[in-house]
Amino acid sequence: MTDNLVIGCGVVGLTTALELLRRGERVTLVDSADHAGLGTSFANGGLLTPSMSDPWNAPGVHRHLLEYLVSSSAPLKIRLGALPSLIRWGPQFLLNSRAAPHRTATLANLELATYSLAEMQDIRTRHGFAFDASDDGALKFFRTGAAFDAALAITDLIRQHGIDARTLDPAGAVAVEPCLAPVQDAIVGAIHYPGDASGDAHLFCRAAARTIADLGGRFRYGETVERIEVRGGRVIGARLVNEIIATDRIIVAAGVASPALAAKLGLRLAIKPVKGYSMTYTPDPAAPMPRLPVIDDGYHAAITPLGPRLRVAGTAEFAGDDLELDPKRVDNLGQLVKATYPAIADDATLATGKPWAGLRPVAADGRPYIGPGRVRGSWVNCGHGHLGWTLAAGSARLLVDLMSGVKPDLDPSPYSPCR
Ligand SMILES: Cc1cc2nc3c(=O)[nH]c(=O)nc-3n(C[C@H](O)[C@H](O)[C@H](O)COP(=O)(O)OP(=O)(O)OC[C@H]3O[C@@H](n4cnc5c(N)ncnc54)[C@H](O)[C@@H]3O)c2cc1C
Repeated sequence: MTDNLVIGCGVVGLTTALELLRRGERVTLVDSADHAGLGTSFANGGLLTPSMSDPWNAPGVHRHLLEYLVSSSAPLKIRLGALPSLIRWGPQFLLNSRAAPHRTATLANLELATYSLAEMQDIRTRHGFAFDASDDGALKFFRTGAAFDAALAITDLIRQHGIDARTLDPAGAVAVEPCLAPVQDAIVGAIHYPGDASGDAHLFCRAAARTIADLGGRFRYGETVERIEVRGGRVIGARLVNEIIATDRIIVAAGVASPALAAKLGLRLAIKPVKGYSMTYTPDPAAPMPRLPVIDDGYHAAITPLGPRLRVAGTAEFAGDDLELDPKRVDNLGQLVKATYPAIADDATLATGKPWAGLRPVAADGRPYIGPGRVRGSWVNCGHGHLGWTLAAGSARLLVDLMSGVKPDLDPSPYSPCR
């Protein structure tokens, strides 16, 4: 049996550990936080959506750069202070917004996302995790004709690759999500994706951590890996403050912290943190609840029912590692819930809102890094951007197949860390 050390207890590290344990491996997980799922996996949008496989650097993104720099209400914001950190990554992000690489990344994510949802079903069946999951699909709605037309182009592409996407008029949108009835006149069109799903990533992390412990996995919470130790061209351990944990293999699944750790493995991962916000409300149980997640494309935001709670998540901000809550951004999310569900978002419900901010680990070419490092015994699983919850289960399976020398179900080359 081989000793495996997973750095990071978010959705990606935990699903990787589950898969390793399923194959009979020994696993230790290290995380700086005191529990699992307290990083970016804590209060994300909850969407498990192959339909959203297109990276955010869509063709034409460069035309909006000035707006992103100066406007405080743009869905994507670039803080001036973050500009120096984007000197290498920024041009790569823009180069990958050309039509051909954007399409390549969309299709690579789509294949992995579809695979991942099937894997997630397997995990649910195997372990019976309860995480306020729903398989009722997702609905994107549009307030302008231009936004609707742009989405239809991507929808055509993903439809050709097996995604069930149903174009709806405003009345059709309300038939799918009756809670949208009060705003029907503001909707120009919608797309329903019946194959999408949703669930609370943090509840999943907690359930996964319990199962990993039951299966013999060991946790080292509250410990930070300062660097990976390499000798004679192979990994020998991970250095903590007062100790080196010896191991045969290391898996870097440390979200936005992954590039710094992976540098020691001969990898230059083009990942930058892109900050997002969420607000989680607990409406009156007597009030009507939406039945599925709705995505307001214009705001890059989603409103997702998670059991008795309603979460709105979105916005993208290049602000370095800063996790401070900007009251204006938080307020924008509240306004969006009000504008979407006026009958639910009364003052009492809005007062229950719990704000949160997290850092998406966004790769410049829009695809995650899954595979071996350049040093023997080193592996990475990171850079999943706005899709980490969606892609986690499939990424874990793909990585552990590669680690085990098993032919993977997917071509791993689009996600190669050495690309
Ligand atoms: C507002 C928002 C909404 C989102 N909505 C969705 C959505 O609806 N659907 C979707 O698919 N994705 C969504 N995402 C993206 C998704 O949440 C992330 O891609 C995913 O959580 C990343 O998981 P991870 O395991 O890679 O990273 P994390 O969850 O951040 O886990 C990494 C862990 O590594 C630990 N760590 C880091 N460095 C070290 C170190 N040196 N030593 C020890 N431990 C370390 C951290 O403490 C952390 O716990 C959203 C993100 C945001 C911010």
